Formats: sequence, C-alpha cells, structure tokens
Amino acid sequence: MSDVRVRVAPSPTGAPHVGTAFIALFNQLFAHAQGGKLLLRIEDTDQARSRIEHEQLLTTALQWLGLKWDEGPDVGGDYGPYRQSERLEIYARHAADLIDSGHAYHSFATSEELAAWRAEGQRDGHPPPYALERDVDPEAGRVRAAAGEPHVIRMKVPMQGQCEVTDVLRAPITFDLEQIDDQVLMKSDGFPTYHLAVVVDDHLMGITHVIRGEEWINSTPKHLLLYEWFGWKPPIHAHLPLLLNPDRSKMSKRRNPTSIDFYRRAGFLPEALLNYLALMAYPPAPVDGGEGEEKFTTSSLGDRFELDKINLGGSVFDLEKLRWLNGRYLREDMDGDTILAALKNWAINDQSLAAMIPLMQSRMETLGDFMPRCAFFFASDVTPVTDDLIPAKREAGDVAQVLQTVIWALEALDPWSVDGVEAAVRLVSDHWDWPVRDVTKPMYAAIMGQPVGPPLFESIALLGTDMSRVRLQKATEQLGGISKKKARSLEKIWATRTE
Ligand code: GLU
Repeated sequence: MSDVRVRVAPSPTGAPHVGTAFIALFNQLFAHAQGGKLLLRIEDTDQARSRIEHEQLLTTALQWLGLKWDEGPDVGGDYGPYRQSERLEIYARHAADLIDSGHAYHSFATSEELAAWRAEGQRDGHPPPYALERDVDPEAGRVRAAAGEPHVIRMKVPMQGQCEVTDVLRAPITFDLEQIDDQVLMKSDGFPTYHLAVVVDDHLMGITHVIRGEEWINSTPKHLLLYEWFGWKPPIHAHLPLLLNPDRSKMSKRRNPTSIDFYRRAGFLPEALLNYLALMAYPPAPVDGGEGEEKFTTSSLGDRFELDKINLGGSVFDLEKLRWLNGRYLREDMDGDTILAALKNWAINDQSLAAMIPLMQSRMETLGDFMPRCAFFFASDVTPVTDDLIPAKREAGDVAQVLQTVIWALEALDPWSVDGVEAAVRLVSDHWDWPVRDVTKPMYAAIMGQPVGPPLFESIALLGTDMSRVRLQKATEQLGGISKKKARSLEKIWATRTE
C-alpha cells in the first residue's frame, strides 16, 4: 500500500458521460499501478443543475463498466462526506480564513452591475465593478454580509506576477496573474464554486495526484494560488487529453453518442468499452516483434501502467473501431454459455420483453409477429429507407429541420415519459405548422428502421433518450443534414419558441 490517493470528481448535471468513465479509468489504472486508493467525489455545487438521480445513474454506469472506487458517497470512507453539498460549512470556514489572511474579499456588486460591465465596460477597458471592493476594510464587508446583504466572496488575485503550472504530461506553462480574474469562491447561495471546493477537498481528502481533463488546465493557476494562500502542498497534476469527435472538435453528443447508457443499450460489452477508452490515450500492449496488441484487459494494463506514457495526440472517438474491438471480445473471449448469459443480462430477459407486450398485444395476429416488429428495440442501429423518412409532398431538407427540432424538444423533456414525448411532438408540429402525422412519419422510420410498428410515443419512451436521439440524428444526416449556420439560426428561433 502506498499513500497515493486519486479521485474522480464528476458533477451530476446530466447523463453519465463517457468522458467521466475515461477520467475514472485512468485514475483507477494509476491507483492500481501504485497500490494507492481511488475515491469518488460528487461535485454537486451547482444547485440548479445537480440532481441526485444523475448521481445514481452515473454510479450505476461506472459500476456497469467494472470501475471500482475505494471511498465514495456509496461506500463511505474516512474522508467523507464525499458529496460537496454536504460539506458547505467546511468551505465557508475556509473562505472566511482567506478573508482574514487578506486573500479574499466580500463583493456586493449586483448581477446587473456585472452584466452592464460585461456588455460594455469590459470592452472599453473599464475595471470590473468589484475592483473597488478589493481593498475595502474586511470588517465592513463582514458586517454587511452578517446583515444579510447578498454577496459573493472573491479571490484577491495579485495584480502582477506569474504562476507556473507543472504537469507530468507537458512542459511547464506560465500564466500572467494579470490575466487571471478575481474568481468567485463562494456564491451568493452559500455554495462554493468548483475552484474553492476542489482545492479544499483535494487537500482534506489527502489527494496526491490530480488526474483530470485538459479543460481544467487554465483553472490550475487559480488552484495553485489557493494552495499557496492556505499554506498547503499542491498535488501533482496530470491533465488528460480530451476525447474528440472525428472532426477533432471536443466530443459532443451532437456528433457522437456521449452517454455511457447509450453504449450499454446498444449492446457493447463493458470490457471492450473500457479497453477502447484506455486506447484513447495509452499505447497498445507491447508484443515481441509485433506492432502492439490493442486488445487488453484493464487489469493487465494496470500492471504496466505509467502516468507519463499517456499520449496527448489524437483521442478521436471512432464508433466503428469500437465496434470492431467489441466484436473481437465476442469472438475471442466468449463461448456459447457466456454469450447467452450476456444476452440475457443485456436485454433478452423477462423484464424487457414484458415492457413491450402492452405495445404489441393489439398488433399481433401470431406470436411470430412479435419479434420482427420489436427487433428495433434490440438493435444497436437501424437503417431506414430514405423514402420512408419523407412524407408525401415534403422536401428532405425540411424534414431534416423538423427532426432536428424534435431532437431539441425531446432533449428538454424532464421526466422522460410517454406523455412528454407526445407533448414534444405536438410542440414541433405547432411550431412548423405541420400535421402531427408528417412529424411522426419520419420519426417512425428513424426510430424503428421501418415505416410501421408499435405505437411511436410509447416506443420512444421505452427505447430511452440516448438511443432515440442517436437514431433521430442519424436520420437527419441521412436526409442531408443541416449546416452549422442553419442549425444555429434554427436553435435561436426554437429557443424563443419554447421560452
Ligand atoms: N467536477 C469537475 C468535472 O466534472 C471535476 C474537475 C476535476 O477533476 O478537478 O469535470
């Protein structure tokens, strides 16, 4: 056992993301290689967006992948609580300490003042409204805050100087402090921001190595300042490359399925997905005289894992390659019995069939009608005939736009339900002034790969948000897609429509 302690610290604000699994995996590999500990910390400081259901889905998704942590909200540990919303008093205390030591200040600037400055003053080179509050006597701030006046607490970043970020995977990066804003540490709702909470927790939880996504690199100088002001030793940092879409933009659900649940529903094996995520940033296993073996277990990788071998080059997520790797697992590592068990565990079981029966009962003449009509529920992918996607007298490009708005309308559903799906479709039909059947026809084909089948709204509700979105997106592409520019203007119009 070493004293290496690492963490994965997701924010439970949406569907469980493959990027979270990627970060968790590399932290687990490092912990394994070093004989250290991995902990799961839930960063739920955004009250408006964090949800316990997201946390539960995330935990289940990471467990499905076979990832394991030694400490966390679900398993306990000596450094809890592991949910930031349960540690508010700790952050308030630390923010107060920073005010006492002259490194932070109360700011009473209103959001209107800030917005006005952002809109114009910033461009015209005016200092932000909080600049004048930096040097006010802290006692005056304490009194106003104690009287209940709305406020935030900000870092007092020195006006000059530099901060050097060292990272195991890159050359040192120097930041001018002048470029760093007086980051909010405590928000007006009494919750900390990520920046304060991450530093306080990483320190109090004994984290030795922070292995996280590259998108946090620019925040690291702020964190290093906080470590310095608290008089704490900072952890070692390693910022992992971002997962990318094939066009090398940051992987996003508009281009690639990003939810772990999509991969589970589509019938990928957790071992293969983990293996693929490892390959995104780590070389294949060495083979004598060969090119290297891309198929390996994560525990064998844990045995040979070295942090500085992580490669920062291309981590383009390629669904076709993942399918190929998954196929190798099915062919090379499984036999009839294990495949049968995997199929049952996945979707061919009483529970999932029972959910389809109410949709099919009035639509069957023989039992043999059931499977072919429900096949789309079990398919990784469906391929509709383009003509089936286009209602009579409509143009492909117009249908693509309508389907795009269906995607947005479904995205906004909360909770995901049959009634919600129906309401979303009605909203789209009103918006475009298209009869409902012209909206549902392409949806049928997109979702089921065939023009007829069980009822649409119930089917979409059962298929789930991730699978439905991917199929609708694929159909939109099949119809020629819509340009980025068009999508932007559509989205604007759509946003005002749904306000
Ligand atoms: N809550 C942050 C996230 O969701 C964690 C960043 C970090 O690991 O420091 O990405």
